[in-house]
Amino acid sequence: YFSKGLGQNFIIDQNILNKITSAVKITKDTEVLEVGPGIGSLTQSLAEAARRVVAVEIDQKLIPILKESLADYENVEVINKDILKVDLHKLLEEKFEGKEIVVVGNLPYYITTPIIMKFLEEKVPITAIVIMIQKEVADRMKAKAGTKDYGALSIAVQYYCDIENVMIVPPSVFIPQPKVDSSVIRLQLLEEPRVKVKREDLFFKVVKDAFGKRRKTLLNALSSGELGLSKELVRRILESCGINEMRRGETLSIEEFANLSNLLAEEL
Ligand code: SAM
Repeated sequence: YFSKGLGQNFIIDQNILNKITSAVKITKDTEVLEVGPGIGSLTQSLAEAARRVVAVEIDQKLIPILKESLADYENVEVINKDILKVDLHKLLEEKFEGKEIVVVGNLPYYITTPIIMKFLEEKVPITAIVIMIQKEVADRMKAKAGTKDYGALSIAVQYYCDIENVMIVPPSVFIPQPKVDSSVIRLQLLEEPRVKVKREDLFFKVVKDAFGKRRKTLLNALSSGELGLSKELVRRILESCGINEMRRGETLSIEEFANLSNLLAEEL
């Protein structure tokens, strides 16, 4: 019955559901946007505590099941849509008062990153994202410069958020059981991005080029990437930032990437 293609692993452990709900830190103003409610077990737990829950589920087959499992909750609305195709600003405006909106989801693993990045990049006015994701992806989001998990995803998430571990979840609490451990993390949106950048697009392009060719020196990576920079320019900018051109992208902190892209912004 379960649709493997849609990444459907349902949580069956009430204890876990309670812990996720408590990580949402619900107050009287909290409104929840749940992504992928499945059969509605987490939705019920959220609805008991939050002011309002809007749950977006892609799978039409689950809608009648959700209607039934959520029939007793007047503060829940289910929407049958693909979250990646939803106009998030419009949805929030239409459905919520907007004082404190938390996105919650036990996401299908293959679209975890696009979903999170959609909320962050589109600067949707939310307070936090509480998500269950593959442990490996959570580790990459939290990674610090110089470690093996550090990459463009770490920088993208840390640029916008503080990351808090909630718990590690074994496969046994799901039906059907996934093959890997999961993590629940809370991404708390920062009021201002972690570093000041002159041009956000340029900052993320520098990051992308620097990580594009692993094991390449910064000089080589940045002068052969999509930005199409000349070696001379890269050399000069790295020198003005005090960054050795033989270093690799994996060793640069988010502050160093910001400096680099800010100097570049002045040259382009
Ligand atoms: N929240 C439920 C739970 O914890 O038991 C279900 C979690 S299951 C891992 C992921 C859910 O997301 C499934 O119900 C799936 O149909 C839904 N889903 C997958 N892709 C989606 C998308 N693009 N938009 C909205 N829901 C999606």
